Amino acid sequence: MTEDVNPFKSLQQQLDQAASYLDIDDGLLERLKQPERVLETNLTIKRDDGSLDTVQAYRSQFNGDRGPYKGGIRYHPGVNRDEVKALSGWMVYKCAVVDIPFGGGKGGIAIDPSNYSVDEIERITRAFATELRPLIGEEKDIPAPDVNTGQREMNWFKDTYETLEDTTAPGVITGKAPDSGGSAGRVEATGRSTVIAAREAFEYLGRSIEGASVAVQGYGNAGWIAAKLAHSMGAQIVAVSDSSGGVYSKEGLNPVRVREHKDETGSVVGYEGAESELTNEELLTLDVDLLIPAALENAIDEEIASDISADIISEAANGPLTPKADNILADKDVHIVPDILANAGGVTVSYFEWVQNRQRFYWDEKRVNDELESVIVNAFDTLIDTYEEKNLPTLRTAAYVVAIQRVINAYDQGGAWP
Ligand code: GLU
Repeated sequence: MTEDVNPFKSLQQQLDQAASYLDIDDGLLERLKQPERVLETNLTIKRDDGSLDTVQAYRSQFNGDRGPYKGGIRYHPGVNRDEVKALSGWMVYKCAVVDIPFGGGKGGIAIDPSNYSVDEIERITRAFATELRPLIGEEKDIPAPDVNTGQREMNWFKDTYETLEDTTAPGVITGKAPDSGGSAGRVEATGRSTVIAAREAFEYLGRSIEGASVAVQGYGNAGWIAAKLAHSMGAQIVAVSDSSGGVYSKEGLNPVRVREHKDETGSVVGYEGAESELTNEELLTLDVDLLIPAALENAIDEEIASDISADIISEAANGPLTPKADNILADKDVHIVPDILANAGGVTVSYFEWVQNRQRFYWDEKRVNDELESVIVNAFDTLIDTYEEKNLPTLRTAAYVVAIQRVINAYDQGGAWP
């Protein structure tokens, strides 16, 4: 890495850039660039050996003009205050660009979950839910899964909240297992929208995802599902990777077999159907039609960006490009479907889950996927209209222009409250 990039600064730069195409009052722009509040807390839990451990945790509520704060909770050693602030801001504009009635929030605990037993992770999760209880609720702030959290943590979180509140309130958190009030299709939703958005981008450029070569960086929930769906649309998955490295096959990999290999061994590396192995950096710079970064923020810096040869990038991760990398790729005419649209499937199906929880009426997977398809395709079309009408430099700027305008409308319509 040549750059030490603060994701919160990246978010603010993206907002400034888009705001220059809108007629926004400076004071209002400042409001759009700062979180409304951030909780920083220290959680103390008992480890299995009886010793005490104190871990740092955060929840940022960035903006609630369009509805309850919404966004995931990640468990990762890199979690810090500015990262959580950035991720919560991205949630605001993500929910706005796909036009779902939520604001944005994000939380995180600065731990490496692999250093803790399952029982310890449960105690940490329940401690965090207890700490967040006064701030969250079905109508206030609704957490969800993110990096290294999933159905298991969401189920514990819901159970803790409901027990403390002495009620049932499944809509207090999304991404739960179906028997705990989760939605069909939620696990696949992030990868699904990444590929739907990529397919739309190919069509916009007069091309097709069918037969396209694809490289996927990151083989967690979002990356692997994206690879599987792109493959089912006739694309060739030539390379995939995880934090240990990657595998390549000119003829195309079978994404399901690669996943099985990862489940058995812990990594995609060593998959016997591959022609060769490659590093993450080599994967990112392959000459492919579509590149899907599905790992963490800042995965592509300026140095890697100058070597990127992909035609289209669909961002499954949040903030995978540094601002300098973004500018380099724009100059190289790489078409980037921005994270706030590409990976918005996750929060969109979280919204469907919340609607189902509130109505106590559950949909089948086909209905979820059909509704998701129409949300993402409509959002993509609106983005393209804005991109063309306003003659904007990139799809990312267009996404922020659409999203900022929607947040401003909600704020203005609410009127001033001195
Ligand atoms: N963590 C996911 C994201 O970054 C999903 C958030 C949600 O479902 O609320 O979009």
